Amino acid sequence: MDYYSEYISKLIEELGRLPGIGAKSAQRLAFHLINLPIEQVEKFTQTIVDARKNVRYCKTCFTLTDRDVCPICASAKRNHKTIMVVETSRDLVAYEKTGQYQGVYHVLNGVISPMQGIGPNDIRLRELLIRLEGEVDEVIIATNSSLEGEATAMYISKLIKPTGIRVTRIASGVPVGGDLEYIDEVTLLRALEGRTEL
Ligand code: ZN
Repeated sequence: MDYYSEYISKLIEELGRLPGIGAKSAQRLAFHLINLPIEQVEKFTQTIVDARKNVRYCKTCFTLTDRDVCPICASAKRNHKTIMVVETSRDLVAYEKTGQYQGVYHVLNGVISPMQGIGPNDIRLRELLIRLEGEVDEVIIATNSSLEGEATAMYISKLIKPTGIRVTRIASGVPVGGDLEYIDEVTLLRALEGRTEL
């Protein structure tokens, strides 16, 4: 039975589907939205629709962008012969914030995780191998140091090795299980500079 209006119940249900939002948070957010001026709610929903409609994956590196090719891939100032492989666009942003990395990226949009039924074909690995047919000097594997991140790094390195392209792994200055996006810039730079051959 609906304790509130069914409109509110529906809203709570939808909000509760968002990641990290439990039943209580969903309720709190729903009441917050109900109390906002209608113009503000309309602006908010339009922002969501616009973002969803306009944002897509870069054709080259598969980061999120609103263009066919993202500004990093399109930049002539970047070193296109060095490709850093990261799990998500958030990790890419973490490295971009250091302002020190001059190469380009490849965003896997996931990691291999047999537990969750995610295999090599479910992440952007094939697309990476296609890129390697071009002129590439080094692939820096910067997946997280979680179990899945490490396993994915090993898998990628085995795939690339036969091509003769240099494969490196960022140093373990990144704490085990630590998500790249939460690590400070100094630690990220140290991890990058201390990378080792695979
Ligand atoms: Zn790109």
